[in-house]
Amino acid sequence: ATPTAIMVGTGLGASHGVLIRNAEALEKAYQVDTVLLDKTGTITKGEPAVTEFITATGTEPSALLPLLAAVERRSEHPLAAAVVRYTEQQQVQTAPGEAAEATDFVAFEGRGAGATVAGRAVLIGNRRLLEENNIMLGPELEQAAAGLLAQARTVLYASVDGQALALAGVADTVRDTSAAAIRQLQSKGLTVVMMTGDNHQTAEKVAHQVGITRFYAEVLPADKAGKVQELQAEGRVVAMVGDGINDAPALARADLGLAMGGGTDVAMEAAGITLMRSDLQGVVTAIALSRQTVRTIR
Ligand code: ADP
Ligand code: MG
Repeated sequence: ATPTAIMVGTGLGASHGVLIRNAEALEKAYQVDTVLLDKTGTITKGEPAVTEFITATGTEPSALLPLLAAVERRSEHPLAAAVVRYTEQQQVQTAPGEAAEATDFVAFEGRGAGATVAGRAVLIGNRRLLEENNIMLGPELEQAAAGLLAQARTVLYASVDGQALALAGVADTVRDTSAAAIRQLQSKGLTVVMMTGDNHQTAEKVAHQVGITRFYAEVLPADKAGKVQELQAEGRVVAMVGDGINDAPALARADLGLAMGGGTDVAMEAAGITLMRSDLQGVVTAIALSRQTVRTIR
């Protein structure tokens, strides 16, 4: 590629909010045949909100929420922020001087978080987190969880001192532009695949909503780069699109990494292209530009 063509290409990209790091990124975009998309924060807005909070009989939400919020205030996960916001909206009052403080906070990667609050061991996270701690749900919460999953909610499970006491249903909306952008990528002959740490049912619903048939669910952060490699082992040239810290290794491993501009700095540093408009339309623009640019040169 000639320096002039690259300059024109990157300049055009910038005017569309597509920041192309260098010539190599543009050349790679030309070769890509498979686009792997992170779900949360990439296909969806990444602004999760708690829509249901269900407690076991005998447990008052107002007694439990401050404990959960105390744990989640210490976490940097977007789902944690949703729990904190919900607790504040419910205007759960704690007596002055009694505001729950979490100690011994632990973040369990891809699973949830835990801490000691008011002398009690509190856990909140996905099903795997409870299972790993040998905590059973009980028929009442089991049924409630099934109901939430059927509505494509991300379900958070909460336990205190080894007892499962509540569930939170969390909803995150698909970005308005996602389905159309994915359709355009597919019409350019690209295979679009989705990957997420979220549960299988929610993943399937979102994939279906945006016209994706192949997806990986319940992928631990440490395994995301491995999924890129799996696709590469099929002989594919893979572009990975993501926003989070946990996407960085996959962005680096991919033939081309694209980071959502509204995401974390770590993701942007690992990527060859940054999408300033936090919108999958930018992926379509990047591919189209690379085809224009590289074609005019060859
Ligand atoms: P994603 O790929 O969707 O960004 P992550 O790998 O970050 O997901 O997390 C996977 C799952 O772990 C989440 O869907 C959630 O169920 C659980 N989880 C992680 N951190 C937390 C937390 N702080 N509070 C509650 N649940 C959490
Ligand atoms: Mg994400």
